[in-house]
Amino acid sequence: MADKKILTTCVYCGTGCNFFFRVRNGKVIGVIPSPRGAGQGKLCIKGWSAHEFIHHPERLTVPLMRDGKEGPLQETTWEKALARVAQRLSDIKARTERRHRLFHLRQMYQ
Ligand code: SF4
Repeated sequence: MADKKILTTCVYCGTGCNFFFRVRNGKVIGVIPSPRGAGQGKLCIKGWSAHEFIHHPERLTVPLMRDGKEGPLQETTWEKALARVAQRLSDIKARTERRHRLFHLRQMYQ
């Protein structure tokens, strides 16, 4: 059976290089640079290695969360992890919103 090529975008940094994953028998076995995207057919070493973590036995497949600020990371559900992230972002927004509003007002009247 011929290898499949699946176009994707590298997630290692914000540059956004495109490449194809080479897939054989349902397993990602390599990377082929794509002329599309920021890299225009070139990849750095992280992009060239992007296929290696997919089937790695130590790859995280569930979120880990601490119970409070201390303590060990423990497996949790995506719902609980996303709820905590949403709560933290709301807290940051509430804490900084007034400061940002004052900053914008200051910019408007300078
Ligand atoms: S290949 Fe390298 S430069 Fe391109 S997105 Fe991935 S990490 Fe960034």
